[in-house]
Amino acid sequence: MADETQSGGGKPRTGFGVKAAIIIVLVVVVGAVVYQKQKARKEVSSQGAQAVAPRETTDPGMQAGQGMHRSETALPRLVDLGASTCIPCKMMAPILEELKKEYAGRLQVEFIDVWENPAAGQQYGIRLIPTQIFYDASGEELFRHEGFMSKEDILAQWKELGVSLTTANDPGFSRLNPLTSDTRPASSVCYMCDGDVEPRTCAALKTDKGDVFLCSPHCYFIVYSSLLDAKGVQEKVTVADWTRGKPLAAAAGVYLYGIDDSGRPTTKAFADKESALKERQASGGNILNWQMLQNKELATRCGFCDRAVYPEDAALVRAAGVYTYGCCPMCALGVAARTGKDIEVQVKDALTGELVYVKTTDGSISLLEPQTAVAWTGKKKTPDGQVVSAGCFKQAFFVNEANLKKWVEQHPSATGKMIGISQALAAKMKLTPQQISKACKIGECVPK
Ligand SMILES: [Zn+2]
Ligand SMILES: [Zn+2]
Repeated sequence: MADETQSGGGKPRTGFGVKAAIIIVLVVVVGAVVYQKQKARKEVSSQGAQAVAPRETTDPGMQAGQGMHRSETALPRLVDLGASTCIPCKMMAPILEELKKEYAGRLQVEFIDVWENPAAGQQYGIRLIPTQIFYDASGEELFRHEGFMSKEDILAQWKELGVSLTTANDPGFSRLNPLTSDTRPASSVCYMCDGDVEPRTCAALKTDKGDVFLCSPHCYFIVYSSLLDAKGVQEKVTVADWTRGKPLAAAAGVYLYGIDDSGRPTTKAFADKESALKERQASGGNILNWQMLQNKELATRCGFCDRAVYPEDAALVRAAGVYTYGCCPMCALGVAARTGKDIEVQVKDALTGELVYVKTTDGSISLLEPQTAVAWTGKKKTPDGQVVSAGCFKQAFFVNEANLKKWVEQHPSATGKMIGISQALAAKMKLTPQQISKACKIGECVPK
């Protein structure tokens, strides 16, 4: 097949025609054999049915059922019914795999082995294998095809059926100019997270180019862990005194360390221990010095870019049986690139908190749940018109496109574009080790 298509010209057509004829003959023969086998199995034993029954209900039964309740996933679906040992079915296998990867989040692809699950063949009413059935997003059957079907033919068929399969490479939704621009003065916007800089909890970092303002000591520690050279930076940090709002040298501060309702740490800085103890009576918590606070803040890191993270905010990653975090969903996928291992990633939908689950095998997605999940890659335009990453705080996953669009609507200043999860992973997999070692780092010197 590959040879024929590569040879070019008009020849492949005729070559393909002959091949197709052979395949169809094969299909008919194989189909007949399948039917015989199914009949034979049925006749073999009635106890056998008992043993097979649970599989039938969990396997083809579920899949067939999904076709009827498609409101949550709402994707067009291609079902291929075949068997692992039939030749044209085997030829379908890599095509199905390709479609699954390339159209993740756009098309649901299912393979049902009718030799393993004879009931499925009957359920779908197929006459021979392989048979491909095309369903629209509402679960309605649009078309079925018997015999081998090439990838090109499958894609052409969807087009003919009027079903658009915008690929992960061309998702067609983006916003590169914010609807509203940020009018807050620079000193009241956190350099790291864009949050408000509150006078009683903020931190500031002195640089050659002026002060960098941060909403909290936590955002300062993210900056600290993002610097390529953090030497001497500690002495240039001030934190706001919780009692008076006045800046004090961070290393000299006394810190009241608590936990808020969402499980995230809270940090209040004081100039002296008495003030900290007084506040502790009111709000509880533990008293730490700067070094102890730093040890805590830097203990948990992003498995891709090494930034300090709070687990409550991070994406959970499992690589070769070891748990780590991604400071953002993109970094979570990046763990596959950094470690070279197969990973599992769990990310909360930024709008609803529903879980998106990704599993990778050899740098590609092998499982995505739900299959409708999409990524928002936060991008911004630089003054000279270049489109660059907007940073870890601007990346998000969603269980479906509708959630993403709702979230973008709710965030008028957000800029970026929608991409497939497989595309997000591919972007990380193509990074060189050098690029990975500098990922998310803030320059050679202190922040701008
Ligand atoms: Zn911040
Ligand atoms: Zn990261």
